Amino acid sequence: MKLNKNLFSLSLIFSISPAFASVVNTSDKWPEPDNIKVCWQIEKPPALAELIPELSDIQTAEDIDKIDDERIKVLHKAYGNIIPGELAQAAFMESLASIFDEKTGFKYPIPELSYIKNTEEIFEIDNEKLKYLHSAYGNFIPREIKLFKYHLTVVLQQKVGFTLIDKKIPFYKGLTEHFVDNSYHDKTNIRFTGWKDCAKDDLDSTNNIRISFNTMLMGNKYITTGAYEGGAGRPNERNKGSATLKITVPPKLNNNTFNFLKNTVIHELGHALGLRHEQNRTDKGICYTNMYVHPKSIIIDGTSTKEGGYNHYVGSYDSDSIMNYCSSSSEIAKGELTRGDLKGLAYLYPDFVKVKPMSCTKHPESRPLPSHISHKKYCQGYRNQASCESKRWHDKPVCKWQ
Ligand SMILES: [Zn+2]
Repeated sequence: MKLNKNLFSLSLIFSISPAFASVVNTSDKWPEPDNIKVCWQIEKPPALAELIPELSDIQTAEDIDKIDDERIKVLHKAYGNIIPGELAQAAFMESLASIFDEKTGFKYPIPELSYIKNTEEIFEIDNEKLKYLHSAYGNFIPREIKLFKYHLTVVLQQKVGFTLIDKKIPFYKGLTEHFVDNSYHDKTNIRFTGWKDCAKDDLDSTNNIRISFNTMLMGNKYITTGAYEGGAGRPNERNKGSATLKITVPPKLNNNTFNFLKNTVIHELGHALGLRHEQNRTDKGICYTNMYVHPKSIIIDGTSTKEGGYNHYVGSYDSDSIMNYCSSSSEIAKGELTRGDLKGLAYLYPDFVKVKPMSCTKHPESRPLPSHISHKKYCQGYRNQASCESKRWHDKPVCKWQ
C-alpha cells in the first residue's frame, strides 16, 4: 500500500466469487524468483532538532501547536522540503488543489502552472517541480501552514515512537519472516532469502528488498501500515539508498494489529513481485468497504506501464485478493494469498508458481469423521462446489471446494 493521498483518511487493508484474478505488471520481474534477497534497513528517525536546529526548544506536539504563524512561515520557507517526501508531496498536491477552481483557476497567481485547466493535471506535476513550487508558493496557501505544523508533529512523534519499538525490532523481524514462510514459501516456489542487516552494497541494489520498521501516531493511535516504494516489481534507480518496504508497527500488538501486520507484509511483497491493486480494475465487482477509487488510479487491461511492460488482468475480478482494499472485514483475519493472487504470480513466474485445479477436499471446520472414512476418500467424488459443500456431519460442513 502506498500512503494515501488524503493524509487523514489512511484507509488500511482490507467475499464470494470464483477467485481467479490479479492485475500484474509485466516489467521489473525478478530474474531469480527463488532467490530474492531481503535485508533489514532499520533507519532510526532523526530528532526534530537535527532537521531544524531552530526548533531545539520544542518538546511536545502542544509546543508545535503554539508556534505563531509568522515563525512557522519562516520555518516553512526554509525547511518545508525536508519533511519526509511522500507525506509532503502528496499533501502539497492537495494544497494546490484546494486553491484551484476549474472555472477561475488558481486563487493566487502561479505563472508556472498557468497551463493547468483541471484538477487532474495538478496530480501529474512531477516531484522536482513540486519541490520548487512548494518553496516558492507554499506560504500563500493557508492549508500548507497548518499541514507544516502537522508534519513537524509527525517528525517529533516518529522519534518518540521509535524509542518504544526499538527493543522489539528483533521480534518484528522474526514475525515478518514467519508471515512470509506461511504464505509465499508455503504456496509457491518463490523464495525470499537473506534476512540479514543490509550491507553497504545492498543499499544501492535494484535486485533486493530493503525493509524498515517505524512507528506512526494518527490522532492518539499508533497505526499499522506499509508502503512498497518500488511500485509494482523490482525497485528501480529512484529507490536507491532508502528502504523499499517500509512497515509501520505499533509499540504493542493485539489480535487486530497482528492481523493487519500479516496482511501488510503479504500485500506489500505482492507489490514487490509485480501485483497491483485489484480494486483498480475497470471490472471491479463487489466492494465491501465501498472504497472510492480515484479515476487516476484505475488500471486498464493491456495498457503499457511506465517501466516498459504492460498491465494485464489475469482472470476475473477477485474480491478476496490480498491486493484488494475492497475485501470484506472478515478477510482481514485471513491474510492469505487467494487462488487469484497465485494465478497472477503464476502468470509472472510460471516456473515457480503452480495453481492446482479446483477440487473437493477437507473443510477446515469439519468434525472428525468416523474412523473408517477418510476425508480424502469421502470428498474426492464431488465435481462442483454445490455438491461438494452440501454434505454435513454434526452440523459442520465436511468438504470444501478449493
Ligand atoms: Zn498496496
